[in-house]
Amino acid sequence: MEERRLQVTSRLGLHARAAANLVRVASRFQSSLTLQRLDGNGEEADAKSILSILTLAASRGTVLRIVASGVDEQEALDAVVGLFSRDFDEIEKSGADFPPVTQELRCKGLGVSDGIVIGRVLRLQEGTRDVYRAVIEEADLERERRRFRASVRLSRRQLEAIKDRAEKELGRGHAYIFDAHLLFLEDAKLTRDVEDYIVKERANAEWAAKVVGDRLLSIYTQINDEYLRERGSDIEDVIQRLLANLTGEGPKYPNLSEDAVIVSPDLLPSTIAELNLNHVKAIATDAGGWTSHMAIIARGLGLTAVVGLRNFYQRTRTGDRIIVDARRGEVVLHPAQETLEQYQLMEDTHGPTPAPAGPIDCGPVATLDGVQISLRANVELPTEFQAVRDFGACGVGLFRSEFLLSRPGLMSSEEEQYETYKSLAQAAGEYGAVVRLFDVGGEVGPDVKERERNPALGLRAVRFNLRHKEIMRTQVRAILRAAAAGHLSLVVPMVADVADIRSAKHVIDEELERLAAEQASFSEVQIGAMIEVPSAVLTAERIASEVDFFELGTNDLVQYTLAVDRGNDKVSDWFRTLHPAVLYGISRTLQAANEASIPVIVCGEMASTPAYAVLLVGLGASDLSMIPAMIPRVRGVLSQINATEAREVALKCLSLATADDVEELVRNEFKARWPELFPPNTLPKALE
Ligand code: PEP
Ligand code: MG
Repeated sequence: MEERRLQVTSRLGLHARAAANLVRVASRFQSSLTLQRLDGNGEEADAKSILSILTLAASRGTVLRIVASGVDEQEALDAVVGLFSRDFDEIEKSGADFPPVTQELRCKGLGVSDGIVIGRVLRLQEGTRDVYRAVIEEADLERERRRFRASVRLSRRQLEAIKDRAEKELGRGHAYIFDAHLLFLEDAKLTRDVEDYIVKERANAEWAAKVVGDRLLSIYTQINDEYLRERGSDIEDVIQRLLANLTGEGPKYPNLSEDAVIVSPDLLPSTIAELNLNHVKAIATDAGGWTSHMAIIARGLGLTAVVGLRNFYQRTRTGDRIIVDARRGEVVLHPAQETLEQYQLMEDTHGPTPAPAGPIDCGPVATLDGVQISLRANVELPTEFQAVRDFGACGVGLFRSEFLLSRPGLMSSEEEQYETYKSLAQAAGEYGAVVRLFDVGGEVGPDVKERERNPALGLRAVRFNLRHKEIMRTQVRAILRAAAAGHLSLVVPMVADVADIRSAKHVIDEELERLAAEQASFSEVQIGAMIEVPSAVLTAERIASEVDFFELGTNDLVQYTLAVDRGNDKVSDWFRTLHPAVLYGISRTLQAANEASIPVIVCGEMASTPAYAVLLVGLGASDLSMIPAMIPRVRGVLSQINATEAREVALKCLSLATADDVEELVRNEFKARWPELFPPNTLPKALE
């Protein structure tokens, strides 16, 4: 038998990836290899089993005894010692490559909304914090327990405040997640175990909370049920909050100062929804593209945002001065005095576009030659409901309902959803609102434990719904019930073909029958298909004969037609909305719907860009849905053009070979035909 004492020195401790490397090395030898903690009560783990290693919860600083026993014990021990000394062969992306800078640094990205903002960096990343073990004197154990209880009380107050705010700002549907957090926080399994651990192990409160939290988490991550497993991320959230309060580092979403600029590797839409947006001036992220959901929400909320900044996050520190220039798609970190003065003259905190004062135009707009175009609103959050009327929308063309599932796997109750859809119907009025069934799965966040290899091609949208029928049924029932109180219809996202529509309709029919049997108040609704993948475009005639309407999701249509990830900044040069293949797909879909006499609402970001809206009309669209604040601008443009002229331009575009050719033609034709409507900065730019 050979043994050695070793200390875990890697920053993240012996966590899953490091443990996996250890298993790989240990399994090369015949000898048995065990690890034993030298603090606590000497828990042991088999170095060939990842689960066993993880139960040790050995974070940085932990001292372990490694025992090897068998024919090749010396070699086995040497190999493990080597691995420890190399910090488990992990390539740490710590920031060593990009040390924080103090001199002015400009980074190019993609401006996805308007505005120029000067503020202070607030770094935001869902992550873990390092926790150290301290041995506590007998006499001080009671003090540690009191510290822990105080942290629970503080966490409870914070969560209640966040829940109240979420309820007010985002509607009741969004606040339920914090109910779950409160339940975890008060669960005796957590609080009693932590206090017991403090006393038994003479451990500091932070360490006890971390060890108990890790154990609970490891139980959850092993559960063979996706829904339950997802609860793990909530436990993690609560533990992080407790630790933050114990260490005095403050909550994960700190109180935002007035000029906060959120800097993050990536931001989940649900994270944006949790922030106090009154204090956020701008957003700057490493990932993202024009049509990523974060960008869409930022535009909807009128937040200045630059995305696709690659390695910018690593170069920042909270509190650094920063300029976010969404017009040039640029950020400036540590601006020099001269730069600052220049920008101070230009600063334009965009903020939510104020609703036009006085009476506004509403209802469809007519082109000069009398073609009627409906302009509807795309809405993501209840805070935007008021904007539907303020900006003169013909109801809601697309309600992205995903915020009701603010974290994958967690869902608002039928009752909460029902209330949300009822207020949506009220806000939409006589023109009604289209609720999209949950379109989740494409953009997953860091808190999703098990990522698909290829989420955009994975269990997304209609596929997710058909695999999680209990979630789909709850949503469908809530929509059908709310439809009794207003004009609602329902659209199925990302259908690939008629089979998807039939399966979805089958579930909807079953829920209609059940509601009738229960004698509930409900109403039948029109059912539409989102056309946003090539197979749906190519079979549009057949799908048209099975639905009441189409919605054209141009964001995904570009992504899937051109095979370009809409959120990946590395390929954003290939994301070409005016690619002839995309225009052909749109034209073909509109034609198929026309032949089947069903309407088409075009609801991707294309519709809210005035020049593109003209092209859409030229291709035959007469129903556009967009960010509410863009409606007056698109209305103004469409009321001053001839649809026949737009058609001439669109037909020419369809005959071209490349996106460059189309963009050049658009620049030239628009300049010649409508010079006062389209100054150069409103037309597609020539690539340098
Ligand atoms: C689209 O794909 O164009 C669309 C409207 O839906 P989302 O952007 O939410 O995917
Ligand atoms: Mg889509």
